[in-house]
Amino acid sequence: MVASDVKPDAQDDKRRVFSGIQPSGIMHVGNYVGAIRNWVNMLDSYECTFCVVDLHAMTVPYKAEEMRRRVFEAFAVNMAAGLDPGRCRLFVQSHVPEVTELCWILMNCSSMGELSRMTQFKEKSEKLGGQVCAGLFTYPVLMAADILLYKASIVPVGDDQTQHLEFAREVARTFNSRFGETFPEPAPLLSKVPRLMGLDGKDKMSKSLDNYISLLDDKELIWDKLRTAATDPARMRRGDPGTPEKCNLYAMHRAFSPQEDVRWAAEGCRTAGIGCIECKRCLAGHMAEELAPVRERYAELSADPENIRRLMAEGARQCSAIARRTMEEVRQKVGLRQL
Ligand code: SF4
Repeated sequence: MVASDVKPDAQDDKRRVFSGIQPSGIMHVGNYVGAIRNWVNMLDSYECTFCVVDLHAMTVPYKAEEMRRRVFEAFAVNMAAGLDPGRCRLFVQSHVPEVTELCWILMNCSSMGELSRMTQFKEKSEKLGGQVCAGLFTYPVLMAADILLYKASIVPVGDDQTQHLEFAREVARTFNSRFGETFPEPAPLLSKVPRLMGLDGKDKMSKSLDNYISLLDDKELIWDKLRTAATDPARMRRGDPGTPEKCNLYAMHRAFSPQEDVRWAAEGCRTAGIGCIECKRCLAGHMAEELAPVRERYAELSADPENIRRLMAEGARQCSAIARRTMEEVRQKVGLRQL
């Protein structure tokens, strides 16, 4: 299944979707195009639950004060980008503590061998050198607990998360075969939207590489960043024709510009009918136009922190009801309750 196949008006069976949101502090246009915008399109067709994964964020070194701020910002910026708590469950992972109990139970259905093969663990632990904690190793078990606690049947994932989702499916199968049918095997919903590269045109867009456009950047800042962004290297001079498919800015056009301007950029690039600056100006205008309401909504939301805290509590209340039901069933099945 592919995320962009999901139409807002599709009549579906309201299957349950779950996905986690990292409290990374900055949400960039890559996250927005690759994930949030698709999720927003799913709100009316599926029963959606989205979670700010603060427990996952503890698996790398952090400061407590920063964590509080990052969770608050992630919650508000996702709401501003369209995850309306009136149309989905939006909550903070640690506010529903049953997930940690299920995580422990699922640890006993998880294979050390499988965990040690996780690519993300290898990459992250290399970066961290000597500071690797056990939580980073068991990160995929917590992700499985998140998905299974809410009995989600669909998980929208990027290609960097498919291995973790396959692990969650394996854990569900192991649990079901040992203790009886309990969890649906969650299916991936892959995004068809091309991943946006960073402004350097080489690496994935990310805060740490400082090659990103934030969802909260204003018109001037967007232009400033796009003006110097890498393009097709074949376009050394204004008269050199280029290949739009080799240019990250063209991928951004496809994500933000109307069809006629996407065609204009492709044709102008191939024939050298337009220059890169002209092409970037057009893109900057469309991007700024789409992001302006997100920025404005974020400013409104963050001006009322009490309201954000109230919405967090409401999200946790809704999810706790499902979590309690699942854990009652799980405790019975694994023999932690006297019958
Ligand atoms: S004209 Fe546009 S698509 Fe072509 S290389 Fe320049 S910025 Fe990229």
